[in-house]
Amino acid sequence: MTYRELLCEGEEHLKKAGVLEAETDARLLLEYAGQMDRTAFFLKSMQEAPADTVLSFRALIRKRESRMPLQHILGFQEFMGFEFHCDARALVPRQDTEILAENALAILKSRMAETEDNAGHDLRVLDLCTGSGCIGISLKLLCPDAEVVCSDISDDALELAKENADKLGAEVELRRSDLMNDIPGKFDLILSNPPYIREDVIDTLQTEVCRFDPRMALSGGEDGLIFYRRICSDAPEKLREGGYLLFEIGSDQAEEVRALMKAARFSALSIIKDLGGNDRVVLGQMRNHHV
Ligand code: GLN
Repeated sequence: MTYRELLCEGEEHLKKAGVLEAETDARLLLEYAGQMDRTAFFLKSMQEAPADTVLSFRALIRKRESRMPLQHILGFQEFMGFEFHCDARALVPRQDTEILAENALAILKSRMAETEDNAGHDLRVLDLCTGSGCIGISLKLLCPDAEVVCSDISDDALELAKENADKLGAEVELRRSDLMNDIPGKFDLILSNPPYIREDVIDTLQTEVCRFDPRMALSGGEDGLIFYRRICSDAPEKLREGGYLLFEIGSDQAEEVRALMKAARFSALSIIKDLGGNDRVVLGQMRNHHV
């Protein structure tokens, strides 16, 4: 059987199983099974595939047919240009979340420029509900002078975040905490992509998400807002003067989250859209002393 025929066979199986990106996923799994990059695959597509590649490709296709996410099978997802290991211990990093990380990075850089030594040696960042660690670890790698604390209530997630921090060489502090309960000190920037799906919506999500992402990484309670509420009420006293709070939100939550931030006395509130044009990030600043 040639690589091309094998690809078609895999694609058919995935289509029947209801996988959305059947062709792309089948190709990526074939490249993985045959240990080839995209170019190698194109060059070899008319050649006979070795028997062991056929076997391992079919086994991978069976996993994907069960709707296990591609990232769990391949074991990684790219985020902000870095490769994060991912598995069932935490949410698979999403591309939309890069909007949150990019905005945080811009704020950090400008705050850094305001500090006396211009290196921002004592800038402190807190990534709440860190999961795989993708947000906090990327910020540390892109802004090495900042001190970054990544926290999560899940030991599984923290273990995965530690593996990622070690692999990528990011010196972040990992802490087990129920939101800010066990986090000492104050921060210049607190950010979070908390669980925000309404409890009654979870089972209607794609199988890849509702069966394979940890439920605790998805559920934002009955109205989807419990983490925003708690973080908004705790953040003001954990922020330094002029510090920022940034959230990723569900596309229909911008107004509710903005209202929560406003009620917590955040100012300069703004809502930022993702590449698909959906509301994705809400941010605000805490000013105690009006100037
Ligand atoms: N912060 C992690 C991410 O964005 C995990 C988020 C979560 O579990 N809700 O991928």
